[in-house]
Amino acid sequence: MALIVQKFGGSSVANAERVFNVAQIITETYKQGNDVVVVLSAQGDTTDDLIEKANEINPSASKREMDMLLATGEQISIALMAMAIEKLGYPVVSLTAWQIGMQTSSSYGSARINKVEARRIHEELDRKRIVLVAGFQGVNRHHDITTLGRGGSDTTAVALAVALKADLCQIYTDVDGVYTADPRLVEDAQKLDEITYDEMLELASLGAQVLHNRSVEMAKRYHMQMEVLSSFSRKPGTIVKEVVKVEKTYVSGVAQDKKITRIALIGLEDVPGMAFRVFNLLAKNKINVDIILQSIGRHDTKDISFTIDESNCDLCVKVLQENQESLKFDHMDVSSDVAKVSVVGAGMVNNPGVAATMFEALYEVGINIRMISTSEIKVSVLIDKEDTERAMRAVHRKFFQ
Ligand code: ASP
Ligand code: MG
Repeated sequence: MALIVQKFGGSSVANAERVFNVAQIITETYKQGNDVVVVLSAQGDTTDDLIEKANEINPSASKREMDMLLATGEQISIALMAMAIEKLGYPVVSLTAWQIGMQTSSSYGSARINKVEARRIHEELDRKRIVLVAGFQGVNRHHDITTLGRGGSDTTAVALAVALKADLCQIYTDVDGVYTADPRLVEDAQKLDEITYDEMLELASLGAQVLHNRSVEMAKRYHMQMEVLSSFSRKPGTIVKEVVKVEKTYVSGVAQDKKITRIALIGLEDVPGMAFRVFNLLAKNKINVDIILQSIGRHDTKDISFTIDESNCDLCVKVLQENQESLKFDHMDVSSDVAKVSVVGAGMVNNPGVAATMFEALYEVGINIRMISTSEIKVSVLIDKEDTERAMRAVHRKFFQ
């Protein structure tokens, strides 16, 4: 007998038929003699629909009231699932964040989990009940409802698994695991049996939207093994853990990110401290910078280019313009027609030539590289946005065939 935390995403519970499908999975796990704690997301597009509703009333509604509204989606899911499980004849109880003592920071819309009081859940498990918990929501020290940010139910699940010292944390979704590339873009993408936390974090931040980043960070910190699997196929999924067998493949995936902007500062004075001043300014404004490239100086000037998340573009341009005089750059070039393609793999450190192989793949299909960055487990290139899909396929083919 084990304690298993299962999380089901919005698409897995989108309608009555799917609710019963998931109820089957839950009750089968329970029938095998396990303690089962289930975290649910809001059904289908519920959260988006609620945001739309709010915008109709007041597009600048306070974050507190937004959380009050958005948290309702998950409450609907747990109540409906409890009814389905009751109908199948099993003991069940649904609980909100309030009832289980899911304590978070006060930042509405992006609250962090501080503490989970596991007592109520343990009591219910002792009564042999299946416990359903509303994902995504928490309660802050003002006793107000908070939410953890979009996609936050994954993080609820891991936090509960850690707090309850669960044996397993299963994240059920509509794909049957983590793939070597987005299967919608790359036809021959392959499912991975396992992947490390670090690789998963890189893939997530590069736009492979399988798991909420914070859930993986938390799982890594507390050594909680996660399994990503499909609620539709019932096949084994992908295990996310610390170390995987890397001798077979040293690259685990190819990812892309189109939501980036490249900013070039042209004609900066070529003196010590310029890079410091530029990036310190951005850091003070909480603008995260990704790839950075500085040109060789000529005629006492140099250029610095860097990429940022497209959501930070307006702020970044404004801050730089306001400081053009003190930074003494000649002009600024802003481009959103760029994309980042990356290969990720924990086995890369011991395998020289990954970068060269990637560049060769791009060369063969005539794609120009605008910027490059590397880390221990990743090589990224910046290319023209229109080339993204072609680049993905070419690079994937090179590594996985
Ligand atoms: N329902 C929330 C969202 O759509 C949380 C989640 O699905 O994890 O973002
Ligand atoms: Mg999700």
